[in-house]
Amino acid sequence: MQGVGFRPFVCRLASDLRLGGFVGNDTHGAFIEVEGPASAIDEFERRLSGELPPLARIAQLTGSLVASVGETTFRIIHSSSAGQQDAEITPDTATCPDCLRELFDPADRRYRYPFINCTNCGPRYSIIQAVPYDRPNTTMRRFVMCPACQAEYDDPTSRRFHAQPNACPTCGPRVWLCDKSAREIPGDAIHLCVERLRDGAIVAIKGIGGFHLACRADRDEPVVRLRERKMREAKPLAIMVASLDAAGAIAEVDEVAAVELSGPVRPIVLLPKKPQASISPNVAPGNDCLGIMLPYTPLHHLLMAEGVGPLVMTSANPTDEPLCSRNDEALERLAQIADAFLMHDRDIERRVDDSVAKLMSGATGERVIVPIRRARGLAPAPIRVPVESPVPVLAVGGELKSAVCILSGGQAVLSEHLGELENPAAFRNFTATIEQFKRLLRVEPRIVACDMHPDYAATRYAATLGLPVTQVQHHHAHIVSCMAEAGISGRVIGVSCDGTGYGTDGAIWGCEVLVCDEAEFTRVGHLRYFKLVGGDRAAKDTWRPAAGLLYGTFGQKWTLPAGPMLSRIEEQALSLMDRRLATARHVPWTSSLGRLFDAVAFLLGICDRNRYEAEAAMALEAVARAAAPTGPLAYTVEKPEDGSRPAICDFRPMVKELMARVPDGPDSGTLARAFHEACAGMLADVVEYAAARTGIRRTVLSGGCFANRLLLELLTDRLIERGLTVSSHREVPTGDGGIALGQAVAAAERVRRGLICV
Ligand code: ZN
Ligand code: ZN
Ligand code: FE
Repeated sequence: MQGVGFRPFVCRLASDLRLGGFVGNDTHGAFIEVEGPASAIDEFERRLSGELPPLARIAQLTGSLVASVGETTFRIIHSSSAGQQDAEITPDTATCPDCLRELFDPADRRYRYPFINCTNCGPRYSIIQAVPYDRPNTTMRRFVMCPACQAEYDDPTSRRFHAQPNACPTCGPRVWLCDKSAREIPGDAIHLCVERLRDGAIVAIKGIGGFHLACRADRDEPVVRLRERKMREAKPLAIMVASLDAAGAIAEVDEVAAVELSGPVRPIVLLPKKPQASISPNVAPGNDCLGIMLPYTPLHHLLMAEGVGPLVMTSANPTDEPLCSRNDEALERLAQIADAFLMHDRDIERRVDDSVAKLMSGATGERVIVPIRRARGLAPAPIRVPVESPVPVLAVGGELKSAVCILSGGQAVLSEHLGELENPAAFRNFTATIEQFKRLLRVEPRIVACDMHPDYAATRYAATLGLPVTQVQHHHAHIVSCMAEAGISGRVIGVSCDGTGYGTDGAIWGCEVLVCDEAEFTRVGHLRYFKLVGGDRAAKDTWRPAAGLLYGTFGQKWTLPAGPMLSRIEEQALSLMDRRLATARHVPWTSSLGRLFDAVAFLLGICDRNRYEAEAAMALEAVARAAAPTGPLAYTVEKPEDGSRPAICDFRPMVKELMARVPDGPDSGTLARAFHEACAGMLADVVEYAAARTGIRRTVLSGGCFANRLLLELLTDRLIERGLTVSSHREVPTGDGGIALGQAVAAAERVRRGLICV
């Protein structure tokens, strides 16, 4: 990768060992030529792998003998912008321990300098404008280095050798606090900012990939005001705390979480909230987790060092719009939200949100951290995939939690999280990202892969590119994305559980068992269809899928057994629903597991409305997790003898049992647990049936519902009990943020097999 200090490291090492030669970059990576005594070269090879700089990694190391030319000194050959390069772009990286020490050392020339960085840390992807990654191609271009900085930059033995964002208080960017009318407030910006935060103000703080909105997290009033102004009703807000100890004071931080929280990526990690935590209940209302991150820029470290305490640090964007990244843009768009602005003059070229990660369980019960949102610190690090694509592929992803992917050779680059494309500003950011990706990666795609949904903005966009288009069914793309990151090729049994995905029959799929490989799939099982009335509102109001489920179970008299629950619904809406269920022909059918979760959350009285995506499902998981293990609710799986039709997971026995048991007592936890058990049980039954018919023993789990750790664990256990191998996500999100990767690999494999011509 560029900009990780690999070449200087090689140079130092070779000079140490008194070897002659050179190091440089070419189209496929770095090349090194060394000349000297065999023992020194052996030593060189050993230390090359063993002492790599923190951000560097060696994917593959090969060598050969060349004739000696009598070189005695070692040099770095500069990268040229001519010719094709495998231009790997490094993600932005949290401040390293060396820089942190200097930041708080009064004797250091960068003491309290908010933009300290080195080859081991600092901004990368968010400041790059063109390749190769050199200062003139970044937003640091306009800062001319002072002699001291330039000397470091030119010195191969310095930690700042070729550190493109290198800067100091003399020559680099500066920070200031201003009010809403852009008037700079005189004084120490950090002190002034902390003062205002203490007083309960909301401050827009410019970070690496965009602005945050910050306020104290330990008082109700500022948090309530922030929610009102941002028009964000209930979606949890992220918190920044000064240290691991501070994180441990408000949430359960185990060893795995501690490593992730304090590592170079520094995502927001979702952690169980401690009951006694002194955090406003409005930070994450009704949620048993807190999203916590540690400071990752020098500016954050300086703010936190003032002892300001836990801060809400939420992405500064009006609802669903992309992150604010320019100073003037922030002043304009955040004028109604922020009381003050902590600005700086290092421009942000790419808007990169904070990544979000969650603790999950791997196949052998090991604790793993999995990204739920892949952005800062992770994108655009390349992902090695098991297909060698004959032509460059562009995959445009889905509609929600959009991310795009470019696949070239065996290397996929998945973009940062781009948000919900139904928002026009997000869509503009999406098209701009594709254009910039092509430039930065120097790839001209020859084929474009997209979802099958005719109304997705990304699908329509794909058709305008003048390239061959290949559509990849949503749930197939989910499975292939997991196969790709796990390095699996060939036939697998995929379990794809999800909210919404367009099916080949026009229905809304979402609980699918597929026998598939990278290119093609057969649907071997799914949840029994039920009617989903209400369009977009069907994903918000949980009673709507519940009505469809009751209708599917009890027919025309569906309201009878559900009387007390339906009393929570307006009578008029209810009778309208009754008419639509009974008469309308144009009501879509769905096999969505996400909507089944919503429906059950309604029937158990746990959540009547999704104020944000998956609120009901998360609440259902939380109560189920708190309950003791129990047997599953009744379910049946219809397995056609001849395999001519898919197996059907029938929810009717489940719904009947629920309706019979709910009035008995208010123990919704046990019923929620039994529901999870039943879902895992019926999916495992279908997989077993498919395994027996096909002989395939390898299973792959993907789709948004597997962010539900309980469901993932229960199903994984059942599949392993049956002697099957299980893969689930580690590197890319299990939700729609991962599907572009699956689409890209599916397209590549179709081209490779000659299923499509380009
Ligand atoms: Zn550093
Ligand atoms: Zn300087
Ligand atoms: Fe999905």
